[in-house]
Amino acid sequence: MAAAKRDAPRVNYKIKKNDLVMVVAGRDRGKTGKVMRVLREHGRVVVERLNLVKRHSKARGAQSPGGIIEKEAALDISNVMIFCDRCNAPVRVGIKAAADNTKARVCRRCGETIGND
Ligand SMILES: [Zn+2]
Repeated sequence: MAAAKRDAPRVNYKIKKNDLVMVVAGRDRGKTGKVMRVLREHGRVVVERLNLVKRHSKARGAQSPGGIIEKEAALDISNVMIFCDRCNAPVRVGIKAAADNTKARVCRRCGETIGND
């Protein structure tokens, strides 16, 4: 389980919002999706259209009619890996300094730059 917020260390994960990731464990293993949120203090991520849970919501007027809706639940960050387009596989990520001294995330397998930061 993730540690409580107040005693959680400030960890920087290599996975960021809008990254393409593959789930490597659990019910949605082998599926890919885009990262919607990184819950850094909980060590969890929310991935678009993955790890869906059904939520029973009460009707609250015309805008929200209620009923059973499907919603993404957070996954443990250790259960997802960055998906490299060039390798067509989930890969580990390294950090590399470019010629202009900016750091970039790279695929450990093929060296391809991941994201644009
Ligand atoms: Zn790669």
